[in-house]
Amino acid sequence: MPTCENCNCKWTWKQTFVRQFRFKNKLICPCCNKPQFISAKTRNLSGLFALIPLFLLIPLAIIDITLIDLPNNIIYLTEGITILVVLFIAPYFFKIKSTEEPMW
Ligand SMILES: [Zn+2]
Repeated sequence: MPTCENCNCKWTWKQTFVRQFRFKNKLICPCCNKPQFISAKTRNLSGLFALIPLFLLIPLAIIDITLIDLPNNIIYLTEGITILVVLFIAPYFFKIKSTEEPMW
């Protein structure tokens, strides 16, 4: 879970989960109300997390085409559960900085 570099306040899972949907690099600390920035490493990791459901789709499609005809509901359910799991574990990998880091 992220820790504010300004006040050393550790954000809760809920505070982090809600803030990940802002889609902005600048987030306000719930403890000191000062701006914090998502670290470059976290932004890179978020991109990889977003790809997990897509990468899962490839083996599902291969199984569907070559082995057994998977019902669409199974594919939708697997994808939906994967997206939810990614969203729920993402706050544990969230890191914040007091200054904005360049992507590279
Ligand atoms: Zn703070």
